[in-house]
Amino acid sequence: MNSEEFRQNAHQFVDWMADYLKDVETYPVKSQVRPKEIYNRIGDHFPVKGESIESIFEDFAKDLLPGITHWQSPNFYAYFNANSSPPSVLAEMLTATLGVQGMKWDTSPASTELEQRTMEWLRDAMAIPQGWIGVIQDTASSATLAAIISAREKMTNFDTNQNGVYAYSKLRIYCSEETHSSIEKGVKIAGLGKENIIKIKSDHLLQMDASELEKCIEEDKKNGHLPCCIISTVGTTGTTAIDPIERISAISERHNVWHHIDAAYLGSALLLPEYQHLIKGIEKADSFVFNPHKWMFTNFDCSVYFVKDKEALIQTFSILPEYLKTRNDNDVDNHCDWGIPLGRRFRSLKLWFVMRYYGLEEIQSKLRSHISMAEWLEEQVKASSDFHMIIPRTMNLVCFHFNPELSKNIDEVNKLNEDLLDQINSIGNIYLTHTKVEGKYTLRMVIGQTNVTMEHIREAWRHIQDVSNELISRNN
Ligand code: PLP
Repeated sequence: MNSEEFRQNAHQFVDWMADYLKDVETYPVKSQVRPKEIYNRIGDHFPVKGESIESIFEDFAKDLLPGITHWQSPNFYAYFNANSSPPSVLAEMLTATLGVQGMKWDTSPASTELEQRTMEWLRDAMAIPQGWIGVIQDTASSATLAAIISAREKMTNFDTNQNGVYAYSKLRIYCSEETHSSIEKGVKIAGLGKENIIKIKSDHLLQMDASELEKCIEEDKKNGHLPCCIISTVGTTGTTAIDPIERISAISERHNVWHHIDAAYLGSALLLPEYQHLIKGIEKADSFVFNPHKWMFTNFDCSVYFVKDKEALIQTFSILPEYLKTRNDNDVDNHCDWGIPLGRRFRSLKLWFVMRYYGLEEIQSKLRSHISMAEWLEEQVKASSDFHMIIPRTMNLVCFHFNPELSKNIDEVNKLNEDLLDQINSIGNIYLTHTKVEGKYTLRMVIGQTNVTMEHIREAWRHIQDVSNELISRNN
């Protein structure tokens, strides 16, 4: 493809992209295809002869688009958002064009230095302590894995990197019953063993019980275990419960245990001064992760990892083979030493575009509007006799269920809500997902999509009520 052809194709793609984003609400939010439907539409062998971009694009639109769930639809209320925004998409186009692999400072100084600056901007705006250093990771799972491995190294005086984990079968990891599955995955990958994860019970708000945490650590110490890492959560995946960070940080300091704070989704709220108290005490913790790719309008993937002790991170991960040595190594940051992969995408570019295009004020106003829409929805649920809140809202997630007859039969109510969710998602006007809270099947509605408005929320609430009424009349 010569540069003129590239230009023409790119213009056509951009036209399609602009139309797609304008019309995204007209698609069923959740893809309605059956398993293997897309697979069977795709040719069964590697094309021997090249094809034109037009014909590939035609097949994309015809065969693949039906298999797309539209995460950028304002009617997407499922899981946690994986938000994008026009400035972020434009920056991703530049990133793809430059094709930079920013593993070392030398391999693109701008990639490293823009990352340093954007991390400082975020640190200062989010009240992360001065002196903490940030680095972009692909996902929160990788950042948490980096934290677990760094904790393992620090607690064993870097002996496990040298000699393996064999001498340390008793390193303990503490988290709540509500923590994300990435913690268990990280512990398994780090070789610490699932058996060494101590799940601390949660209170009635599903927050980690800090007194129980301290008791478990003391008990473990008495029994010859080595407390290694506490992972707390600001915004659990099921219900956005917020662990008591100040108390947990004090415990981690008292017992000299690494404290990692997983704020993958709700971390963005720390851009709002009125929520910064949620991480009071963070200066006694060790690391923190949040995902701009969830609720900060920066498209997937972009996860920000802050760490207090940069040297522990680098000592854990750095390896310097001859072919990677440069003359600048002593004077610069080489981010390949700050996490798991060697190769690194130029992710700070999209973050920089988003931060500059919207500015802090506009981002704050979007976040606040999402929170107030969730507040409105919570009020509607509370005012309804058919729907009931399952747990109080902490931010922009509303957890509720449908129980018009106030039935005490939990299996029956769960089945009703499972059917309701299935029905809502197969209609496709909106997309919701669920969790279980104390055995109760719970509908989750996350209000955090970049372009969601109050009109969408009113319409979604009307729709949920209509579908549930239909379901009841059909069942009777
Ligand atoms: N931590 C929490 C609290 C989450 O909710 C999630 C995902 O939703 C993760 C970690 C994992 O995020 P990622 O997909 O970036 O690994």
